[in-house]
Amino acid sequence: MKINPEKYLSNSDWLFVKSKYDQKTQSEEETLLSLANGYFGSRGILEETPEGSTPGSFFAGIYDKTSSRVEELVNFPEPFNLRISASGGEKLDVSACQVISHKRILDIKKALLFRSDVFRTVNSGRILYQSLRFISKNDPHIAVEQAAITPLDKKANLSVKTSIETGIYNEGMLSEGRKKHFNVYEYKENKRHLYLSVKTLSRKILVGYAQKVCVENGSQSIIRGTNLFKMSLPKNETLFITKFISFYTSLEIGKKELKKKTISKVNQSCRKGFPLLLKEHAEKWKKIWDKVDIKIKGDKKINLAIRFNLYHLLINTPLQFIDASIGARGLSEGYKGHIFWDTEIFILPFFIYNFPSIAKNLLLYRYKRLKVSKKQAKEKGFKGALFAWESAESGFDQTPPWVKTPEGKVVRVVTGKYEHHITADIAYAFYNYFKITGDLKFLLDYGIEVILETAKFWISRLTFNEKKNRYEILKVIPPDEIHQKVNNSFFTNYMAKFNIKLAISLVEKYKKGRYSEKINNVLKKTGLKIENFEKWSNIANNIYLPLKNGLFEEFENYFNKIDVLKKNRKFPPAIPRNIDLEKTKIVKQADIVLLFHLFPFNFTLKEKKKNFDFYEKRTWHLSSLSPSIHSIIASNLGYKKKAYDYFLKSLFVDLKNIYKNTKEGIHLANVGGLWQAIVFGFAGLNNSEGKLTIKPSLPPSWKKLSFKLNYKGKEITVKI
Ligand code: BGC
Repeated sequence: MKINPEKYLSNSDWLFVKSKYDQKTQSEEETLLSLANGYFGSRGILEETPEGSTPGSFFAGIYDKTSSRVEELVNFPEPFNLRISASGGEKLDVSACQVISHKRILDIKKALLFRSDVFRTVNSGRILYQSLRFISKNDPHIAVEQAAITPLDKKANLSVKTSIETGIYNEGMLSEGRKKHFNVYEYKENKRHLYLSVKTLSRKILVGYAQKVCVENGSQSIIRGTNLFKMSLPKNETLFITKFISFYTSLEIGKKELKKKTISKVNQSCRKGFPLLLKEHAEKWKKIWDKVDIKIKGDKKINLAIRFNLYHLLINTPLQFIDASIGARGLSEGYKGHIFWDTEIFILPFFIYNFPSIAKNLLLYRYKRLKVSKKQAKEKGFKGALFAWESAESGFDQTPPWVKTPEGKVVRVVTGKYEHHITADIAYAFYNYFKITGDLKFLLDYGIEVILETAKFWISRLTFNEKKNRYEILKVIPPDEIHQKVNNSFFTNYMAKFNIKLAISLVEKYKKGRYSEKINNVLKKTGLKIENFEKWSNIANNIYLPLKNGLFEEFENYFNKIDVLKKNRKFPPAIPRNIDLEKTKIVKQADIVLLFHLFPFNFTLKEKKKNFDFYEKRTWHLSSLSPSIHSIIASNLGYKKKAYDYFLKSLFVDLKNIYKNTKEGIHLANVGGLWQAIVFGFAGLNNSEGKLTIKPSLPPSWKKLSFKLNYKGKEITVKI
């Protein structure tokens, strides 16, 4: 009796299949086949951890700073390893053994990873190796792996070794190099279980793991805690090895209870058994997909790719009891697990419309860092709150001062110092949450304070140009990071103006009547007075927005730069050599075009068209954040072909490794943008002051599109 994939796996509409092992694409594949449950995440390594594999095991929100300049998401011990050798010590390992067939399937619907390999060994002939693995969605503290080994030609003497691997490091790919962020605190192994706890170096967070291994061979069943055993297996008989794993961190439970709880959890899962644990896990996932699935009739491949992307967004989002947000590359080492504007602008709408309570938790992550952001503003000589460009646990900016390019060149990074638009992006997100959910309590309890403190920051950040009689923001980095320290970035100035005006309008609206007390309290807390707002209003109205002949200028003097237009159809286009990009009009990513999406009613169609036509030719899409936004605006403008082309680029960012760095984690802002391209682009959803409208324009091959939304507490099904 082998593992029958049909018994476990969903239908092919949900299966992402890889049928070839290639060491060159191994680390990229490990990212694509990751499993996670919002608490614990693990890269999809092969159990034998072949040559060149890069294990990654992360707990949402656990960062460490020792021996690195900034807080980084800790790569913890790896629990899924399973090393098997056959007679004569021949390892069942794709990089060491002859592989007759190799297949890995990620079941997106059930968040389940299946594998089936046939190895040809010298002494034992062919051996079938299969495995199934999941990290429970039903109980965040559990993971299970089952392997089945069957000698196909003759008896095999197997030796099996499995543990919680502690020889793990953060690779530090673009920075200081390998670093270990934990020490082993306790290791105990007995006949019944294995227990390991590790402690992070700077924050001293304890993480406990327990493992229990159940070995079944025909009618025999043995439970072991030890990590090594030997067994002789006759031809065509299957050995099942089920590894139950449990984990807890000292962030949720006391250090003293950690061991007891972790061991009791592993015992409990072993008693429940693999089938029941899997059933409960799959049921939880079914409920999630019932809410968020996007169904397309007419193009199964595209539908599968969309589900693949959404899967990654869902598994990488911290559970609600965790004080964390979504890293730009999720639970992975990419960008050291740091959180950018990616969450508020690109990802958050997906959660506001699907799981408002998750969106609320993501916003609370920022609210809890308001105090630190105020301190940060003060240290830099500003008032109010300045949110970190790269945020992790503390909320202080964690942008590394330099990075190494893949070619090994050291480049200084100044985004942390100058990329300030994130502060207004966060204010925008709080208000956006309110507009879609109608949750006034949250706005008045948390949002308004953030909006006032961020507005206060902008007031102090603006300078008055007496000669020109206008307010300006000097020396800033716009989303287009190619041009650094520019003056009057259109995007930044526009967002700052919005932020200040929003603060004024909310105070105006709620200062009298039922909510006056709340407003008075928040004014007191932020040290603001009603009289301040008249002056603020004056300032906001006089913020300079560079504009020439109906074209919004990326930043002041941008139009004087050298014009370089995209020539070939390569995506992203090749970067021109022998020219300093800062001297050109090349823009990194959607910037002005993004404003049309964030404020669909603030610009005329003519303005949108003229500016899109201009900037599209000059935008290099060097960030994965860019194509989805271009797809949305192209859709809105009726450029159907362009909209679909950009959508496809966004859809395959990771599936085709377009940016050549998928090995560092999935580009999650792109996934959020992809969802928005479907909902706001192809379905043409719009939310104008309390009214939800759609204006669909589907790609020709899509015969039907349907999805669900939450709007002001009601669930809506959209069918086009
Ligand atoms: C982009 C930023 C983005 C960051 C993380 C950078 O390359 O320019 O806008 O926030 O990546 O995704």
